[in-house]
Amino acid sequence: MRFLVTNDDGIYSPGIAALARAASHFGDVIIVAPNVEQSSMGHAITSRRPITYTRTPIEDFEAYRVDGTPADCVALGTHLWGGVEYVLSGINIGLNIGNGMWHSGTLAAAKQATLLGVCGIAFSAPAAEDIDYEHLDPFVSKVLERLIGSKNMKLVNVNLPERPQGVRWTRQSVRLYDGVIVPGQDPVGREHFWFTVEPIQETEEGTDRWAVENGWVSLTPLRLDLTDEAELERLNRENPVD
Ligand code: MN
Repeated sequence: MRFLVTNDDGIYSPGIAALARAASHFGDVIIVAPNVEQSSMGHAITSRRPITYTRTPIEDFEAYRVDGTPADCVALGTHLWGGVEYVLSGINIGLNIGNGMWHSGTLAAAKQATLLGVCGIAFSAPAAEDIDYEHLDPFVSKVLERLIGSKNMKLVNVNLPERPQGVRWTRQSVRLYDGVIVPGQDPVGREHFWFTVEPIQETEEGTDRWAVENGWVSLTPLRLDLTDEAELERLNRENPVD
């Protein structure tokens, strides 16, 4: 089995090595990841200049750093290395739950895999500096064991709490609006702004946020079709196009 491992934190992030080690128990691993951090870049692709790669072994893994986005890495990596069956993205330093999924580069890499007909799985953990990847390793392996070979599995968003007690299937938490602008000043007094992520509502049981807050590894199956089916049905019924 062939795994392409990528991320959005950059190829030298400790999280990508941890994910590659977990994947190596299940098959061949190649790392293809951005040369610098690309967090919150979402599903951007580099279309106005060429992209290149440089061989950069990470631990015992074949690894290539790319001067592009996470989605670029997946497109280039699957093109250059045939037969990739799974693209694993992460382990991101920072959760990708709820509305954060819209701008996540980690998830975008997994989405790009799905667009190319390859299974994509995104992994994220809390943004703690002292995250214990060895402790998370059995849970990452457990998730891979469960997802690999499972029928119809195309795209799954996985979020791990620091101290998992088990695994739960979840749905995306969409009740929270988490974009907040916080003003500040630079050292010479010029005004600037931070676009931050902040939960402002209680979470609902069964969602990704609820799972992680309660110590469960959250597994959210996703689809790429964003169509609001119920609204489409209502429009066709109440307001048919001539
Ligand atoms: Mn990141």
